[in-house]
Amino acid sequence: DERCILQYQITLYGDDERLVMARDITRLHRLEQMRRDFVANVSHELRTPLTVLSGYLETYGDLAEQLPPRLGKGIQQMQEQTQRMQNLVNDLLLLSRLEIDQSGKDHQPLSLGPLLQSVREDALALSDQRHTITIALDSKARLLGSEQEMRSAISNLAFNAVRYTPPGSHITLRWKDNQAGGACIDVEDNGEGIDPVHIPRLTERFYRVDKGRSTTTGGTGLGLAIVKHVLLRHDAQLLIESHPGKGALFRCTFSASRLS
Ligand code: ADP
Repeated sequence: DERCILQYQITLYGDDERLVMARDITRLHRLEQMRRDFVANVSHELRTPLTVLSGYLETYGDLAEQLPPRLGKGIQQMQEQTQRMQNLVNDLLLLSRLEIDQSGKDHQPLSLGPLLQSVREDALALSDQRHTITIALDSKARLLGSEQEMRSAISNLAFNAVRYTPPGSHITLRWKDNQAGGACIDVEDNGEGIDPVHIPRLTERFYRVDKGRSTTTGGTGLGLAIVKHVLLRHDAQLLIESHPGKGALFRCTFSASRLS
């Protein structure tokens, strides 16, 4: 395809002078597209072998009591690592789908009450009931969006709140109107918080504050990148507010045009 992609930058000087610069970004765009397709294809191809592996490991896991202890422990570790790889591949695939497919064809009016309730139940299961999670419904508006994508974004935020706060911490899931006529979903915790120096980079793929700790929490390092992309597809903004020792607030803000 012979099309060329140009990026324009217009700088204003005073009232009647402008500097227009055009940059040919065709090559950059194509490389970016190749990277996305590559990640999507590799993730897709890895799914089947991982399913076969985890199937066999589950069968062997059922026989663990009849096996020598070292072998049983090895199988358990293989199961855990295979699960980690499956989570990673699923998140990579989801992220590339969010990047490649730009359309919002499955957008419909969503009631946040049932959605937050079901995320709460999943998060409580992950926490093994060691956290308290409350829901605050302070808006009657319905959100025009994709249920699957919004569930995935809110779950990522709620699961992080469980993973990165000590047992006994409190988490709030809130849907509320804002002064600009829009509404926001807040996921707030009263855990250890995040040093503000890390905040601008948190939504980068694989960026983690504490690498060592994060690998044991079951996260893939892609959670907040997924949240960012889901919000982009809903014309929404993510605001992260936190200070060490003071908990964290993740706020997703939707404009009035996204509400019904
Ligand atoms: P992952 O959780 O898989 O490491 P994410 O992209 O979901 O990846 O999160 C990036 C990092 O942000 C985490 O590794 C963690 O250090 C930090 N983080 C996210 N949510 C919280 C939270 N509620 N409290 C403290 N730190 C958090």
